[in-house]
Amino acid sequence: MKTLIKNGTIVTAADQYAGDVLVEDEKITVIGTTLDMQADHVIDASGKYVLPGGIDVHTHLDMPFGGTTSADDFESGTKAAAFGGTTSVVDFAIQYRGQTLHHAWETWLKKAEGKAVIDYGFHMIITELNDQVELEMDALVGQGLTSFKLFMAYPGVFMLDDASIFKALLRTGRNGGTICMHAENGGVIDVLVQRALAEGKTAPKYHALTRPARAEAEATHRAIALSEMADVPVYIVHLSAAEALEMVTEARDRGLPAHAETCPQYLFLSYDNYEEPGFGGAKYVMSPPLRGKATQDQLWRGLAYNDLQVISTDHCPFCMKEQKELGVNDFSKIPNGAPGIETRMSLVYDGGVRAGRISLNRFVELTSTSPAKIFGLFPRKGTIAPGSDADIVIFDPNRTMTLAASTLHMKVDYNPYEGRQVTGATDTVLSRGRLVIENGVFVGRAGAGSFLKRAGRV
Ligand SMILES: [Zn+2]
Repeated sequence: MKTLIKNGTIVTAADQYAGDVLVEDEKITVIGTTLDMQADHVIDASGKYVLPGGIDVHTHLDMPFGGTTSADDFESGTKAAAFGGTTSVVDFAIQYRGQTLHHAWETWLKKAEGKAVIDYGFHMIITELNDQVELEMDALVGQGLTSFKLFMAYPGVFMLDDASIFKALLRTGRNGGTICMHAENGGVIDVLVQRALAEGKTAPKYHALTRPARAEAEATHRAIALSEMADVPVYIVHLSAAEALEMVTEARDRGLPAHAETCPQYLFLSYDNYEEPGFGGAKYVMSPPLRGKATQDQLWRGLAYNDLQVISTDHCPFCMKEQKELGVNDFSKIPNGAPGIETRMSLVYDGGVRAGRISLNRFVELTSTSPAKIFGLFPRKGTIAPGSDADIVIFDPNRTMTLAASTLHMKVDYNPYEGRQVTGATDTVLSRGRLVIENGVFVGRAGAGSFLKRAGRV
């Protein structure tokens, strides 16, 4: 099976040039200014960008949370991802207390197998660490599950103490894994939540008001300090506060391997959204919460100057009806999360590249190349090069669309960006050489995606 992509502008994290791309079976085999090979299928990419497929390293598909389950499973979620120009996701498997990591991995593999339309990997959430679990961490790294997520928030559910976090960090120094950290001071937040509820403050906005930026900054600083003492890298997930970014910047200025991602919601939405009338603020209940509008500029600067290396989505959709509504009388019972897997590339292109905040190459780097490098997928994924997987997005930089829950493909009854116009949209998507989206129409197949065995740090 040969596919020839003609007349496009090929864009990677480093380059931008007019050229053709030949795909044979699952791989890119030839790139040239004018290719005239015979092919089974020719795609005309005139006037379009030919980009490496997006890589979203923070999604929660089919995830149980607070007595309900995130609204997208691996079929609807990866389909929506593909519509939006993403060809790989790294989701989170959860070890619940008393369970083995292996059990968690098997459970999440079953959720994805036969459903995912694009490739997928997992980070392993560790909620209980003991000698046996440390041995399992080593085994998982060897099997291609090379990153672990730890929580400094949600005491009694997910939170680990500092000693366990430190032990896990030390372990990755030996086994080549990477620790991802949810950095919020869960103890402080719990006290603030209980106090607010006792005062009768139950509206959605109190979710944000009980999770101060300093609680995120403190935990970010502590995560970096623990990793510095363990002499290993650390990756801060979904950084939202300028105060937390300062901690990462300070560490990187000292030469520490501190990495962090942010998400489109923190770049395009703000605390003001919690003030929407009625229960509307619940749409934006996520952790960490949206911050003041001024934070957006600081995050964009962090992205432009590489203090932030990745834009992921933390896609974790819950419908307003019956799901977010669980917290109608108590903000602490609103399931945490929002949809975003489908809108990331267009939002960041429109608000980042078109708005002059980041270059086109940096856009590719933040959404594909850099996550591939940090999480052991490069150069198989994350670039357009001979030998790389043919995960390719034909992206129209001039097409304008209006974001709306009714036309997007995520299985959730609202969209946080409802009515927002964005210019820059995904037309056609190949995943390992197979067409998944063709001119905006889904032509893929559930189950075509494979588990991604990722490399550890070397
Ligand atoms: Zn998350």
